[in-house]
Amino acid sequence: MKITDLKCAIIGNHPVVRLKTDEGIAGYGQAEFWKPFLKPQILSLREAVLGTDPTDVERVMLRIRQRGAFKPFGSAVSAIEMALWDIAGKAAGVPVYKLLGGKVRDRVRVYNGGIRFPLNGYDPEDYAEDVRRMMALPEGFTMLKQPIGFHSPMKGEVPGFHYGEPQPGGLHGVTERGPITEKGMRHIVDCVRAMKEVAGDRIGLALDCGPGWMFPDALKFARAVEDCNLLWLEDLLTGDYTPYVDPELYRDLTTATETPIHTGEQIYLRQNFKQLIESRAVDVIGPDPCDIGGIAELKWVAEYADLHGILMAPHGTANGLLGLAALVQVCATLPGNFIAFEYPIAVPEWWSDIVEGLPTPIVKNGFIDVLERPGMGVDFIEEEAKRYLGEDDADFFD
Ligand SMILES: [Mg+2]
Repeated sequence: MKITDLKCAIIGNHPVVRLKTDEGIAGYGQAEFWKPFLKPQILSLREAVLGTDPTDVERVMLRIRQRGAFKPFGSAVSAIEMALWDIAGKAAGVPVYKLLGGKVRDRVRVYNGGIRFPLNGYDPEDYAEDVRRMMALPEGFTMLKQPIGFHSPMKGEVPGFHYGEPQPGGLHGVTERGPITEKGMRHIVDCVRAMKEVAGDRIGLALDCGPGWMFPDALKFARAVEDCNLLWLEDLLTGDYTPYVDPELYRDLTTATETPIHTGEQIYLRQNFKQLIESRAVDVIGPDPCDIGGIAELKWVAEYADLHGILMAPHGTANGLLGLAALVQVCATLPGNFIAFEYPIAVPEWWSDIVEGLPTPIVKNGFIDVLERPGMGVDFIEEEAKRYLGEDDADFFD
C-alpha cells in the first residue's frame, strides 16, 4: 500500500489530516481547535510521506518526526501519525488498540476537562457552584479538573492577586507571572476548600494552575491543600505552552509536598520526558497525543513512566472527536499507571453530526467503552462533513 496524497482541511477550526492510499483506504487525524494556523506546517510534510507504506507507521514517522517541536508545533506530526494508525487498523481490519499491543481495559476512564460552564465570578462560592454543576452532569464523571490561579482569569479578576505585571490577552502563565500576594494565596486556598467541600470523596478534583508560579508560592500552595487529597496540581512551574520542562525545579517541589504534582501537556517526544521521568520530578505526567508526536509515542512514554512509579493522565480537552477516538484507542492499552484522560467535546456541536462510530451517550458513569471498529474507531460521514468545508478545502474528500 502507498500513500498517494496528504490533504489538510480546517473543519470547525480544527486542522484535519487526510491521507489517501492507492488501495482506496483513507486515514484521518486531528489537532486542537486552537491551531488552524498549522495547516501550512501539515502540508509541508506532504512530500515526505508520499509513496510510503502507511502500514509501516514507524518507517514513515522516521521521515517526519524531526520536523516537530513543543506545543503547538508537535501537532502536525502527531495528526499525521494518527492518520497512519487509522489506515493501518482499517487495512488489517482491527481497531488500532490491537496494533498497539492489545487492550488491557474494556472501558476507559475520562475526567471532565471539556464541558465548561461560565463562572459567575472568581470567589469561593462561584467555584463551589461550578463543581456542583459538573457533578450533576449526565456523564457521571468520577473526576474533574478546574482551571485556577494563573491558568484562569482569577489572576486579573481578584484585585491584588499577585505582584506581577498584568498582560491582558497573553497566553496563561507564559506571559503573565509573578509572586502571589498573601491575600491572593488566601483567596486561592479558600476557593480550593470550597470546591473540596462540595466534591467530598465522591468525585476526584484536579487543578490546572499555571504555569507562572514562583517556586516558593507553588510549594506553599501545594502544602496548604495537602489535606484536600487533590488528584494533582498541574503545570505550576512550567507547562502549557512553555517550550521547556525544568525537571530540577519540579523535583524540588514534588519531593517537598504530599500533593501530587503534574506536568507535561506541552512536551514533544519521549526524549524530552527522559529526565522528568528518570529523576521522578513529578508524580503524574499528562502528555497529549496531539502534541507529543502521536499515540505510539504516548504509549512508549506511559510504559517508561510506569517503570519509574509515575502516573498518567493524558491531556486532550480541545482534540475534537477524532482526537477523542485516538485517546480511547491508546488509553485502552496503557499500563496500570493510567488514571484518566481529559475528555474533549464536539466544538462546534455539529461535529457530532459529521462523525460516526462513537457510542450514544459517549460517556457513561465517567467511562467510555473502547471503540471496536477497524482503525481509530470513528469515521467521517462524508456527505454531512462536506457541508462544513471551506472553499479552499472543497476537494478534501475527493
Ligand atoms: Mg493544562
